[in-house]
Amino acid sequence: MTETSETTGRWAIAIHGGAGSMTPETMDAEAVAAHEAALGVALDAGRAVLMAGGSALDAVCAAVAALEDDPHFNAGRGAVFTYHGTNELDAAVMDGRTRGAGAVCGVTHTRNPVHLARTVMEKSPHVFLSGAGAEEFAREQNVEQVDPDWFATEPRWQQLQEMKAKKLGWFDAGLKYGTVGAVAVDAGGHVAAATSTGGLTGKRWGRIGDSPLIGAGTYADDRAAAISCTGSGEQFIRAAVAHEICARIRLGGEGPQAATETVLDEVGLMGGVGGVIYATPGGETGFAFTTPGMFRGQADSAGLRVVGIFG
Ligand code: ASP
Repeated sequence: MTETSETTGRWAIAIHGGAGSMTPETMDAEAVAAHEAALGVALDAGRAVLMAGGSALDAVCAAVAALEDDPHFNAGRGAVFTYHGTNELDAAVMDGRTRGAGAVCGVTHTRNPVHLARTVMEKSPHVFLSGAGAEEFAREQNVEQVDPDWFATEPRWQQLQEMKAKKLGWFDAGLKYGTVGAVAVDAGGHVAAATSTGGLTGKRWGRIGDSPLIGAGTYADDRAAAISCTGSGEQFIRAAVAHEICARIRLGGEGPQAATETVLDEVGLMGGVGGVIYATPGGETGFAFTTPGMFRGQADSAGLRVVGIFG
């Protein structure tokens, strides 16, 4: 674990499990309870790291790995299927202390893409590796590999069949973006962000969204905030959402909530929807979303521990 320097003594973490069309009317009580429990497990995994004096970087990786292993979310196990029936995973991590960053896309055998993203950051001279090359690196670095069946779940397979049968566009398949992410600030006032996703149901042609793109779906800078996004990736890329929020905070002097809402409005003008979570070096976390719901959770050193789904 990285040592912290006790700048504020306050720590906080926020997680998301994707923004989407969830409402109390469309989700039954059993599904609500299952998602809330899963969010709680991931939140506690990150919280335990911070409570023990660990770094924001370790905390976001622990929380995201828990969400990747949980089949309820579109990352790792339970990722959506591509048009050709495979699971192709993207992830990124960024350390606000150094602005070190690592990312991978299109991986098919790495159990926890967030761990591979971190290994790219720490053990390679690069920031972003893709596909077969990323997994060659994963094997060299002993990052856990699994049979692709590990990721496949029946509900996601049915979503693909439904999308094909109805000839839906990628954004119409229930408007559920189950991407996962975490942001945290540790007791030393350092922030970190991590995001992991299977992308969009039925994606083709090697499509990559915003999640693994540093500055779009993921960014962390101790001078501003840590940001993780979920939503319509194409618009999030075009608005460089995560970096834009940090730039508004750092250069424009805006508060994190105002900056987040302003940038989500810009995404909306481009025709995109989604959600953002943030953590600031001062010890704050928050979120905003323009979909009916977003799977989310927040915890901090003052005793906050809350999970939520609906708007
Ligand atoms: N933003 C992700 C992507 O475009 C999707 C999501 O948030 O679920 O790949």
